[in-house]
Amino acid sequence: QEFVKEEFSRGALRTKTVQDVLTPLKECFMLQNDTVLDFGVMSRIMQSGYTRVPVYEEEKSNIVDILYVKDLAMVDPEDRTPLSTITKFYNHPLHFVFDDTKLEAVLEEFKKGKSHLAIVQKVNNEGEGDPFYEVLGLVTLEDVIEEIIKSE
Ligand code: ATP
Ligand code: ATP
Repeated sequence: QEFVKEEFSRGALRTKTVQDVLTPLKECFMLQNDTVLDFGVMSRIMQSGYTRVPVYEEEKSNIVDILYVKDLAMVDPEDRTPLSTITKFYNHPLHFVFDDTKLEAVLEEFKKGKSHLAIVQKVNNEGEGDPFYEVLGLVTLEDVIEEIIKSE
């Protein structure tokens, strides 16, 4: 029985892809890079409950940075610090994965790297023009673990 369980959960990691577990872009809590960290904005970030907040420029599909909520520990809302000052200072690397990556492979990436969040993109070659990268959302270690637990 244990063996069957184990094989099954491994199977899910092998067959399911990032596409199956991602949080879609429209549901992502994000900030625009020209945001000022005043009291209202900092409250909203805290209330979101998320640890990592993607930062975009112009449009949500153009993610340029990532803010960790812990980066705000030294920030005083009275100073009205531009968000970009903080993201430039910490400069956390962004990680990208393709939507068709198997969960097994993403799990390995998460285990290797320091970050447990990746931006999901796909190669969009529908339509007339050149293929381009389209951002679909984000995936975290939690999403992968959820899948392992579900299949047990
Ligand atoms: P942690 O558990 O490390 O404190 P967290 O609670 O912010 O982090 P995760 O536990 O990694 O986030 O993920 C929980 C769920 O929330 C996952 O489904 C993930 O895709 C989603 N998620 C993570 N960050 C965001 C965000 N900024 N906006 C929307 N959804 C997010
Ligand atoms: P997050 O990844 O959500 O930002 P974190 O980096 O603080 O959180 P975890 O990723 O949960 O911590 O844990 C990483 C490792 O650090 C684990 O081995 C955990 O036991 C250890 N750890 C976490 N918090 C502490 C702490 N306050 N003191 C010592 N070790 C800790």
